[in-house]
Amino acid sequence: MQAPDHSHIPSSTRPVLRLKPREGRRVRAGAPWVFSNEILLSPEHKALQPGSLVEVVGDDGRAFGTFCFNPKTLIALRRLDPDPRAVIDMAWFMMRLSRALAIREALYERPYYRLVHAEGDGLPGLVVDRFGDVLIVQITTAGMDALLPQLTDALRQLLAPAQIMLRGDAQARLLEGLKPEVRTLHGPDLSDRLVVEENGVRYRADLVHGQKTGWYFDQRDNRAFMAGLARERSVLDCYTYAGGFALLAAKGGAREVVAIDSSAPALALAEEAAVANGVAERCQFLKADAFEELDRLAAERERFEVVIADPPPFVRARKDLEAGAKAYRKLARAAAGVTASGGFLLLASCSHNISLERFAQECAIGIERAGREAALLRQAGAGPDHPAHPMLPETAYLKTLVYALS
Ligand code: SAH
Repeated sequence: MQAPDHSHIPSSTRPVLRLKPREGRRVRAGAPWVFSNEILLSPEHKALQPGSLVEVVGDDGRAFGTFCFNPKTLIALRRLDPDPRAVIDMAWFMMRLSRALAIREALYERPYYRLVHAEGDGLPGLVVDRFGDVLIVQITTAGMDALLPQLTDALRQLLAPAQIMLRGDAQARLLEGLKPEVRTLHGPDLSDRLVVEENGVRYRADLVHGQKTGWYFDQRDNRAFMAGLARERSVLDCYTYAGGFALLAAKGGAREVVAIDSSAPALALAEEAAVANGVAERCQFLKADAFEELDRLAAERERFEVVIADPPPFVRARKDLEAGAKAYRKLARAAAGVTASGGFLLLASCSHNISLERFAQECAIGIERAGREAALLRQAGAGPDHPAHPMLPETAYLKTLVYALS
């Protein structure tokens, strides 16, 4: 559903939504969210288009700013600006985007990073990944969707990119009433091969058909950490995708790298990049189910000095928590089972719906059941181009644990 372009409407005519008495604990503390049960909704409010811009005030009259509103979602209001009269136009986007860009330019030498990470960059519902002069935009809220023209203009003005593509195929869009949509917003259509520079490796990504925005920048620092451990060691990368961990380990001097994935197109990207980076002789790519392959390797008494397991999310929805937790435990056990004595093991979860505590607990039990003693060396999340809003710690989804095994 497309919300109308309402950015030009004078702010004073914006609808005003009121918090229920004593409600809005989080927004009062500074969080940019208001939940649907925290507001009084008249029939007119309920009839507003998803994505409409509104003002929010407390029952005490306190103004909380300019929000986008969706009458259909649990997070009903997401703050765009603390100023209730803010004009949300191209200039507004330029300001937010410039701030996000300045942070990335301080962090990275090359223009390959997540440029916008939603609430963490004050832009709810928006993710922008930058691959040199190509930008991939993901929109997951009706509010941001309605502002797409202003956003696109601002991105063009700020970065003069050759191409901007919308990857509007995230599941979260459905909750907001948005249809899946993948299309070119600016420039010629993207080809299905693109170079991603990261940690000195030139990877290949398919930004058109690939998963999410086509590349997982979030593991950048963890890849570098593991590559440091992998020097002159043997490496097993169980869910390699386009070779994120595997190729950096190979380039960093790993003796041999076995990389598994169930997706043939992902493996093709990894193999192509292995050749381009001159590490193909030390890499072996295997299309397989990770659990089956781990069982097979264990049965053959194969061991690797570094094992990496960064799987797809096992807990996709809250109701899957117990089943997913069990799967993480099983994976920890299987991965520990093929880790050589004195070796290193990385276990990761990108599920929003499992806490760090629970994930770490399942990993610990799995390793213990493999009959191994472990020391937890490192506990890390996504890289700093994935900032979290300080009042929304739960949006930090990535959990990565690195162990030394006995
Ligand atoms: N570690 C990667 C990201 C992994 S994403 C990186 O650093 O970029 C998860 C990957 O797991 C996807 O490539 C997906 O194709 C793969 N996958 C999903 N189910 C699988 C299975 N059962 N066995 C092996 N790979 C699987």
